[in-house]
Amino acid sequence: MLKNDQLDSWDRENFFHPSTHLAQHARGESPSRVIKTASGVHIEDRDGNKLLDAFAGLYCVNVGYGRPEIAEAIADQAKELAYYHSYVGHGTEASITLSKMILDRAPSNMSKVYFGLGGSDANETNVKLIWYFNNILGRPEKKKIISRWRGYHGSGLVTGSLTGLELFHNKFDLPVEQVIHTEAPYYYRRDDLDQSEEQFVAHCVAELEAQIAREGADTIAAFIGEPVLGTGGIVPPPAGYWAAIQTVLMKHDILLIADEVVTGFGRLGTMFGSDHYGIEADIITIAKGLTSAYAPLSGSIVSSKVWKVLEQGTDESGPIGHGWTYSAHPIGAAAGVANLKLIDELNLVENAGTVGAYLKKTMQDGLSDHANVGDIRGEGMLCAVEFVKDKDNRIFFDAQDKVGPQVSAKLLEQSNVIARAMPQGDILGFAPPFCLTRAEADTVVSATLGAVKAVLG
Ligand code: PLP
Repeated sequence: MLKNDQLDSWDRENFFHPSTHLAQHARGESPSRVIKTASGVHIEDRDGNKLLDAFAGLYCVNVGYGRPEIAEAIADQAKELAYYHSYVGHGTEASITLSKMILDRAPSNMSKVYFGLGGSDANETNVKLIWYFNNILGRPEKKKIISRWRGYHGSGLVTGSLTGLELFHNKFDLPVEQVIHTEAPYYYRRDDLDQSEEQFVAHCVAELEAQIAREGADTIAAFIGEPVLGTGGIVPPPAGYWAAIQTVLMKHDILLIADEVVTGFGRLGTMFGSDHYGIEADIITIAKGLTSAYAPLSGSIVSSKVWKVLEQGTDESGPIGHGWTYSAHPIGAAAGVANLKLIDELNLVENAGTVGAYLKKTMQDGLSDHANVGDIRGEGMLCAVEFVKDKDNRIFFDAQDKVGPQVSAKLLEQSNVIARAMPQGDILGFAPPFCLTRAEADTVVSATLGAVKAVLG
């Protein structure tokens, strides 16, 4: 077996890691960690450290690690049929069954599911389908997509553009011109501190209306949003936000893409975030929780309204010119079927809601009074703690102080608990597997209290 120092040098010499400071890593200035195995909410590295993963990988290992039911489904599928494509009407028992299982769980206006591999490619598919939709309807000018600042929708050309975080635009010549951004529904960071939540929603709506008026409604095809902002800071929307936004979209005949890559299949304590907030989307993006990351698989669930036009398009112009080699990959589909069964059998959606609420409440009880904790928020099994320099005047820390990353590093060092320093702002994010117990939630909270005390006093 390879020694750890051998792996470390091979890693630094050969491996181009995503979302990493490349130069520091190559020079050996930043830590590396080789993960060996995992079970439940814990991962274990090759040095024998056992870490409580309170971010479920990248909020994706929703059923927890080491589930034999999914591993066996994958192995059985690989032995029987590792691959066949899904072009021109081909399928497998797994991909057809999974399509039905998804539609059985999705909001009732949904009609079909197109499979991809990850959230980014699913959102690329969505944009293409929407452009196709408007071309078929004879509206070739109606193509722009409105996204929100702080939204996260992927790292591709269009999806990196949809993502409203500077790090994902800078030096990449993004966003592309068809993508425009509007206000993030981030009440804690409102400009006018005197605004009520209701007034802030009215402000978001007014901003959207003004943008649509400036651009012209006949140039705007769709609006994309995560039910709860994820990577942008784990921010549940202010009350009434989604209903108010949807009224505007309907008025201007603008489609809605609900990006449920994080919220789909239970993270908010409901099967979809759309159920949670009464969102009536035209397309829903799914990925992560579809297989709990046991195999790569994503999907674009299209509504009957969109599907009808897609059918019309192929009647007019022939087969749709969009396909991936690995679309509906049988191994991913088998993992998805086993995963969705497990979520039902273990009642994990309900657990995400109840234990998630307990985690947030316990975090609030323990940290609300701290002078540098400005906001503690969450929904279902999503929670965030936002740090500020001056709480009364809501003055944020300088980004260079890296307070969020310091707290997450201390949490790991002191208590072997993984939380994520969100990329923009000093925000510590939690998104544990749905099987988290109350005792494990207590561990996460007391470890967080210890780390906050060590860094901020
Ligand atoms: N959409 C959302 C809401 C996400 O959180 C992510 C990833 O974190 C994506 C899309 C992109 O998914 P992927 O990284 O699988 O391409």
